[in-house]
Amino acid sequence: MITRYNHYSMLSHNTFGIDVEAELFIEYSSVEDLQSLLSSKELLPQPFLHIGGGSNLLFVSDYKGTIFHSGIKGMEIISETEEYVMVRVGAGEVWDDFVAYCVDNEWYGAENLSLIPGEVGASAVQNIGAYGVEVKDIIERVETVAVESGKERTFANEDCSFSYRQSIFKKELKGQYIVTYVTYKLDKHTRFNLEYGNIKTELEKFDEVNLKTIRQAIIAIREVKLPDPKIEGNAGSFFMNPILPRAQFELLKQTYPDIPHYDVDEDRVKVPAAWMIDRCGWKGRLLGNAGVHDKQALVLVNKGGATGREIIALSKAVQLSVKEKFGVDIYPEVNFIGE
Ligand SMILES: Cc1cc2nc3c(=O)[nH]c(=O)nc-3n(C[C@H](O)[C@H](O)[C@H](O)COP(=O)(O)OP(=O)(O)OC[C@H]3O[C@@H](n4cnc5c(N)ncnc54)[C@H](O)[C@@H]3O)c2cc1C
Repeated sequence: MITRYNHYSMLSHNTFGIDVEAELFIEYSSVEDLQSLLSSKELLPQPFLHIGGGSNLLFVSDYKGTIFHSGIKGMEIISETEEYVMVRVGAGEVWDDFVAYCVDNEWYGAENLSLIPGEVGASAVQNIGAYGVEVKDIIERVETVAVESGKERTFANEDCSFSYRQSIFKKELKGQYIVTYVTYKLDKHTRFNLEYGNIKTELEKFDEVNLKTIRQAIIAIREVKLPDPKIEGNAGSFFMNPILPRAQFELLKQTYPDIPHYDVDEDRVKVPAAWMIDRCGWKGRLLGNAGVHDKQALVLVNKGGATGREIIALSKAVQLSVKEKFGVDIYPEVNFIGE
């Protein structure tokens, strides 16, 4: 089924709560529908944008073109051994529904990614991550349709160039392929990943450590730390954590001995952008209707009626402060649309 809406408000399709309009908004529910749309694409207003749940987008202006949204649903076991299960999931499924489904079935691997907003298609584009896990760790393959030719193409995990919050779909092939299905490989044997953040401390509140309690613990931590987009518009972490050459990090450490960090490898160190933003005094500050969240400095929020441009002005001011104080460039994780 294909549904079209002209001059469509995107307000309910972006968690920042920015009120812009798409010239044409199209929802489709199968690969065949998508291919038929693409075969007559010259009849549609261009450019094209494909969105999921709009939880990592910042609309800067009305979108003068066509916005697509996938309604491809379904979670299907396509193979299974004693060790693992492969599940093929439609791009239009809500990501956290899939995590809940894995936890209910006692399949290991997705639980640390509980409550990340958005849809399954974008999980592969964004290489979502949290609490020491990235979705690339459980992705087996990604099925797509090419925008230009309408042909199907399947990318094995190793073809997706996954790295921190990046994939080939966000970089080299940006805008060229639409994700239709993602196949995940989940373990059937106990495999917990509890080393990151304060998961272990949160788990002390439960009698047992199992998939259900890990999911509950992560949801509880996230609910305290992150603003609910339904109450205060936001797109989660606005900036990526910078990965610095070790020599640059060692220099910084001389001035800031308490600087938090995670070793990426021998040569590179990841530094939390939130710590630097906080040290620049931005936590809780406002610029117009845009603000830096008062509990998590990595999150920019819409304090009510903010425009995309106001959020960008704030993000630029924050970037400049961090550069001036620490000599470090920080870059947005959020996708700017229509700048
Ligand atoms: C409160 C909050 C907390 C968050 N926490 C985290 C977190 O812990 N970890 C994390 O990694 N992220 C986090 N995020 C960011 C966000 O949830 C993820 O980036 C998510 O994957 C975005 O999914 P979406 O469906 O909303 O995609 P959208 O924001 O709609 O789109 C994101 C990108 O994917 C592309 N895209 C979407 N669907 C398709 C498709 N089918 N085919 C091709 N391209 C497509 C879009 O063009 C765009 O470039 C958070 C966001 C919020 C609001």
